[in-house]
Amino acid sequence: MPDRGVDLRSRNVGDFALAWPDQPAGSDYIAERLLSCLLTTMSPTSKLLVDIHTHVYLPRYAALLRSRAGAATVPFIRTSTTSEGLAEDRLLILDHEPSGGRPVGPQYWDREEKLKFMDKHSIDISVVSTANPWLDFLPASQAHTLAAELNDDLEQYCSTGPSVSSSTQIKRLYGFGLLPLVPEITTSVLLDIVNQISALPHLRGLIMGTRGIGNGLDDGALEPVWAAIEKAGLVVFLHPHYGVDSSAWGDKDNGHVLPLALGFPFETTTAATRLILSGVFDKFPNLRLLLAHSGGALPALSSRLASCIDHDPVVASRLKHDARYYLGKLYLDAVAYGPEELGFVSDVISRSASYASGASASKVPNRSTGSKRMLFGTDHPFFPPLSVTDKWKSVTENLDAIASVQGWSEGDRDGVRGGNALALFNLQG
Ligand SMILES: [Zn+2]
Repeated sequence: MPDRGVDLRSRNVGDFALAWPDQPAGSDYIAERLLSCLLTTMSPTSKLLVDIHTHVYLPRYAALLRSRAGAATVPFIRTSTTSEGLAEDRLLILDHEPSGGRPVGPQYWDREEKLKFMDKHSIDISVVSTANPWLDFLPASQAHTLAAELNDDLEQYCSTGPSVSSSTQIKRLYGFGLLPLVPEITTSVLLDIVNQISALPHLRGLIMGTRGIGNGLDDGALEPVWAAIEKAGLVVFLHPHYGVDSSAWGDKDNGHVLPLALGFPFETTTAATRLILSGVFDKFPNLRLLLAHSGGALPALSSRLASCIDHDPVVASRLKHDARYYLGKLYLDAVAYGPEELGFVSDVISRSASYASGASASKVPNRSTGSKRMLFGTDHPFFPPLSVTDKWKSVTENLDAIASVQGWSEGDRDGVRGGNALALFNLQG
């Protein structure tokens, strides 16, 4: 695991040899870490590791999935028997779910398991969200009731959990609430739930799929909801579930690779692009939208998007700014698994101001500027290691990537690991 400074929970000087067992007592390394510790004490939140992409199926939701074990359509959890004759719970959430679903256990719903995972990877704070497919498959009345209940459950999950340290009020768990975004839901219900979430102190945003109330997120019917979310200062975590047409994946069994590696990020790409094209960011300039998986393909395609807009008479004069400007309105998780990808994404974000209408700003990319909108995530409990390991590769790869981006300062790296999240979610002691 890369160096990220001193863990608050091992701040006692006597713990130093334990915290860095490979270093001899009295070495320069320990002296350096002691200095870092003192600096950290002066600014106790500057080195926190914050995971903003981490999921849960709360017990109430898991019970619903179990109750659907015999359902004809996903999602559901069903118990099957392994080749060794053992009972195993398997989760099926995707249409045409590959490999008979995935095995699930307490790490999907038990808070203690979340905290153990956080401890194992030195994660100080997690901003937890219900995993897909949320409430998408439910009728409106049931989705409404369950959204309200699950939001209360998640507040309880966070508020009754531990604090980061005895010297701060900052908790280790915060959450993204749920809206009952399903067809036939009324605007007033959606606004009520936005109000509910904004009144729950440990919920700092809401997670949202891409279907809206049936017509996608560029649906004009959602404008009052965007307005309410913007006014409440909630962060919208835009997360995929449906991927793209599975016929694109062919006949070979490639497990979950194609839908997860390509389908999910492309779904996010399409949803975010439709939002840009709808003018949502012109109408609601203070809307804070966090894209999963580093924005999918949008950073790589944003200049092509801008060119296509410029050459299309239907949309050429619709937006206030060049399409590339709007990428600077977004926040992106740093769940890209490679330093080159993170560096590229931060370049693309950094140039956004130069594409504001009438701007004369330099188009020279500045990775430091772009890093301010990127935030560490794990996607836990998904992507568990296939064999027993101490730490999860899906976590260490992302931390290593953050530590290795060319052109990011240590301050930039600390920001991506946690400082940016503390600011975005207003997490203060
Ligand atoms: Zn996820």
